[in-house]
Amino acid sequence: MIDLRSDTCSKPTEAMRQAMAGAPVGDDVYSDDPTVKELEHEVAAFLGKEEAVYMVTGTMTNQVAIRAHTEPGDAVFFDQNAHVYILEGGAPAAYSGVLPRLLPGVRGVFTPADLRAAMGVPHRFFPATIPAPPKLLCIENTHNIGGGKVWPMERLQEVCSTAREMNLALHLDGARLWHASVATGIPEHEYASLFDTVSICFSKAMGAPVGSVLAGPRSFIARARRFKQQIGGGFRQAGIIAAGALYALRNNRERLVEDHHRAKMLAEGIAQLPGIDLDPGTVETNIVRFRVTNMRSTDFVDLLYDRGLHVLPSGTDGVRAIPYLNISDADIKRAISIIESVALEHAHESMEAMNSDGAETATAVRSSSGY
Ligand SMILES: *Cc1c(COP(=O)(O)O)cnc(C)c1O
Repeated sequence: MIDLRSDTCSKPTEAMRQAMAGAPVGDDVYSDDPTVKELEHEVAAFLGKEEAVYMVTGTMTNQVAIRAHTEPGDAVFFDQNAHVYILEGGAPAAYSGVLPRLLPGVRGVFTPADLRAAMGVPHRFFPATIPAPPKLLCIENTHNIGGGKVWPMERLQEVCSTAREMNLALHLDGARLWHASVATGIPEHEYASLFDTVSICFSKAMGAPVGSVLAGPRSFIARARRFKQQIGGGFRQAGIIAAGALYALRNNRERLVEDHHRAKMLAEGIAQLPGIDLDPGTVETNIVRFRVTNMRSTDFVDLLYDRGLHVLPSGTDGVRAIPYLNISDADIKRAISIIESVALEHAHESMEAMNSDGAETATAVRSSSGY
């Protein structure tokens, strides 16, 4: 089975496992774990921030960041398709008690005018204005639902400086910031310099089994540590997993260019097939998203699965595929030929036919929908 559902499916290599097995550890809740500290120092320096804190997931680093930037009732600005807003279990509302204000991004990218419009006219009805001061803007780079879209630097600078004029704090969901940097040659710390806080992920594409880091100013990270503890994120001899993240930072970053190349190869290999709507020009990093035009994406995904390719249905007509560390050129070639065989065999089907001949009763058990 070739599994392209997500770059979270990457597995630690033998060398990473050895680094993990030999890592010195201590109780991280007492700040005693030397490997966690080493990771936090190295990431802070890498991103040009004063301090950093290691946590279990990207969701935790993002939501702790939102909690530490705000108080309940504050407004937070998100792109309408931001991971932090729609794919993190409702946490902004449930955990931080904030009011999401949505921006009409195109593949995650919006404009200074969008931000100004969302801010509206000062009035005490709106938590984003008076009497509570406006609080926070979250930006995602690269953008997951946007198909791995990279924020153009110039646009990012404009939006961030508009946010500063509006006195907003800025948080970067950089789960795939690596990919933006590898694609543009602009180093991570340059993107990070536009933001107060940044979270990055080691369990996606970088090959580590677990973990994310939140970086920012010293006083902010101290407050974030309190909320990390509050939601049960105090882990003890976490150095074992932190060693995997450290190994990834030092060894697996440069190779991401291979994943970008394979994503492009996949996109170009299937874009012309009947029933597939895909512009390879939109594939800027490691994520390939396309639409299936003649059947439901869950049915399409099940047909692929039966031939040895596992991809992720996204909504009713979307499909996502992502190459990563353990995926080779040969895997991509095979994936293309599997998609081709299914697309050609079903080229003359239409959505209506699928619905009326009972195919819709396919259980789609394997292809539980994701993003
Ligand atoms: C996956 C992802 C996260 C969350 O990471 P988890 O470790 O799965 O909680 C955050 N932001 C983006 C953009 C992601 O793709």
